[in-house]
Order: sequence, then C-alpha cells, then structure tokens
Amino acid sequence: MSAEKEMWMASARRIVFSSPTSGPDRCIFCQIVTRNASSNIVYEDERHIAFLDIYPFSRGHTLVCPKEHGETIWDMKEGEIAELFRVAFKVSKAVVTAVQADGFRFVQNNGEAANQVVAHVHVHVIPVKMEDKGRFSDRRKFTPAEMEETAASIRREMAGS
Ligand code: 5GP
Ligand code: ZN
Repeated sequence: MSAEKEMWMASARRIVFSSPTSGPDRCIFCQIVTRNASSNIVYEDERHIAFLDIYPFSRGHTLVCPKEHGETIWDMKEGEIAELFRVAFKVSKAVVTAVQADGFRFVQNNGEAANQVVAHVHVHVIPVKMEDKGRFSDRRKFTPAEMEETAASIRREMAGS
C-alpha cells in the first residue's frame, strides 16, 4: 500500500458498528467458512468462499467473501480487494447463467449506517430479470430443496467457466 493511501486510511473516519456479529468468534460467516454453520456453498478457493444468501432478493442471490475475517473493505489490502472482485465477477457470470437472469447488481455495504448486518466483508451478487427493472424486489424465502437446486446449477456453471 502506498504511503499516501496509508495516511488517508489513518485519518479516515472510522466505520461505525454496534452489531453483535462483530468479531471472528461470533461471526456467522466465519462459522460458514469452518463448516460450523451450514450454507449452500457455490464456490470456494484458498482465500474466498461464495454461498447463497439465506434470505435472498432473488433466486441465485449469492454472497462472496474473503475467508479471512475483516469487518469492512477498509480492513483489506488493495490486492485482496481486487481478488475478491475478480471472484465476484466470475460468480456473477455463473449466477446470471444459472438462473437465466438479464443482469445483476453488486452490492457491498460497509458499516451499520449502510445497512451492513453481518460484520464480515462480503459482496452481494443479486441477479435481476428484465421485469424487475426499476424496482428493488422484496426478499424471498425458498425451500431447502430449491436453495440446493439453485446452488447446484451455479456450481455447474462455475465448474464450466
Ligand atoms: P449485509 O446487510 O450485511 O450487507 O448482508 C448480509 C446478508 O447476509 C443478508 O442479505 C442476509 O440475508 C445474509 N445472511 C445473514 N445471516 C446469514 C446466514 O446465516 N447464512 C446465509 N447464507 N446468509 C445470511
Ligand atoms: Zn467473520
């Protein structure tokens, strides 16, 4: 990291959290990484994991995370951020193809004020269809079988990419 960037980070306003999920010991995403919590994993490599959001905005809504705990993107080095988005880019192609979407959103919340609920860095990949244009759809619940079927089709696309 450049000296200039380090100075900027040191002087930057702190991102505020009062979330009870803060800290790796109690972090649900760290528990997903270690398999102490279950999830529908669609991709994993040495430093990243991607799994379906439990309460998705649309079918295929996926979260891409670094395995190493950090609360916000400010806790990551520039190269790590680039890697995270490289994985998110690949995941977006697999998700959009698997659920036959027409586009997608990347959403990346930092801090409670930005509605970040889980204090472990993550990128949302939210597929959207043409009929969703202009509105942010409500969250939906899918059955465990539907979630697993969606995850399996994303995994197939990831394997083929
Ligand atoms: P944030 O608001 O922090 O950017 O997004 C956190 C996301 O994590 C939410 O969309 C929420 O539905 C999802 N989430 C919260 N707890 C769990 C969980 O235990 N498992 C999974 N797969 N997703 C979760
Ligand atoms: Zn964590």
